[in-house]
Amino acid sequence: MGFENLVIIGSGCAGLTAAIYAARADLSPLVIEGDQPGGQLIRTTNIENFPGFPEGINGFDLVSNMRIQAEKMGARFRSGVVGRIDLAKKIVICEGDRIESKAIIIATGASPRMLNIPGEEELFGGKGVSTCATCDGTFYKNKTVVVIGGGDSACEEVNFLTRFCAKVYLIHRRDQLRASKIMADRVLSNPKVEMLWNTVPLKICGEKKVTHLRIKTGDEERNLSCDGVFLAIGHIPSTKIFENQIECDSEGYILTDGVNTKIPGIFVAGDCCDRHYRQAITAAGMGAAAAIRAERYLS
Ligand code: NAP
Repeated sequence: MGFENLVIIGSGCAGLTAAIYAARADLSPLVIEGDQPGGQLIRTTNIENFPGFPEGINGFDLVSNMRIQAEKMGARFRSGVVGRIDLAKKIVICEGDRIESKAIIIATGASPRMLNIPGEEELFGGKGVSTCATCDGTFYKNKTVVVIGGGDSACEEVNFLTRFCAKVYLIHRRDQLRASKIMADRVLSNPKVEMLWNTVPLKICGEKKVTHLRIKTGDEERNLSCDGVFLAIGHIPSTKIFENQIECDSEGYILTDGVNTKIPGIFVAGDCCDRHYRQAITAAGMGAAAAIRAERYLS
């Protein structure tokens, strides 16, 4: 059994910033990295809106630098996923190890939302369905792909894919993009992009690989030939292990007062509690605030 001052669950932007602040406050935090060390940012291309990088910065580089900085300050990292937790007693079970902590920062982030339509699960991974253009886009050189969604993520995926692909369809269920104007304008003015408005995917088809998508526009159903399908329809907060222990909203986002929860010594930061902003910089800001709160709690 391990005893800690502060355990930080999650190693995305929020967790790493919390680690930098907590380590600098001499708390020697233990960061449990989770199933995707570095969080969602490692799947992002150029981040243009993180202050301090006028030319933008690659997501992977940004989180790698944060991690180096946290380690340099004295944060400790361990790989693994938290399987069980008792928030009231502050006991974390990570891959068989029992860790008791005086305080905990939850920074578990969020994971991509799935469509839950036929073919999606069967063809996921190397067979043509993906949630990450940065990871898989290069496999679709001179091919035709479909992106589903209407937010900034979908637009970012579309723009990235036009670098490799011959043609990119963007399928959106409404007649207006949710994305910011600058992102939407880039997509709509790209000659490789064709918008399919008011359209929903019904089935992803193909034997061993994606060959086409069954779609519905209004009352009309048809097949759309494509080699890949990229899902960019938002995220689900990774909060299942905290269910029934902490207050969440109907979609699973942890309810907080700032970064505080109703449980003393339990703080929350980043996408697992932020349904509104979900930016790298806001997650980092919350991580810093959670560490400051934790330090005050511990002292
Ligand atoms: P989002 O803004 O929630 O957009 C999700 C999109 O998917 C919406 O257009 C939604 O349609 C659609 N959608 C949801 N469920 C669907 C379903 N079952 N079938 C079909 N379509 C579905 O998510 P996001 O694009 O991932 O962005 C999340 C946050 O990160 C936002 O705050 C965004 O600004 C930010 N972000 C910023 C950047 C950047 O600045 N570089 C890049 C990426 C993300 P409706 O519009 O009809 O709801």
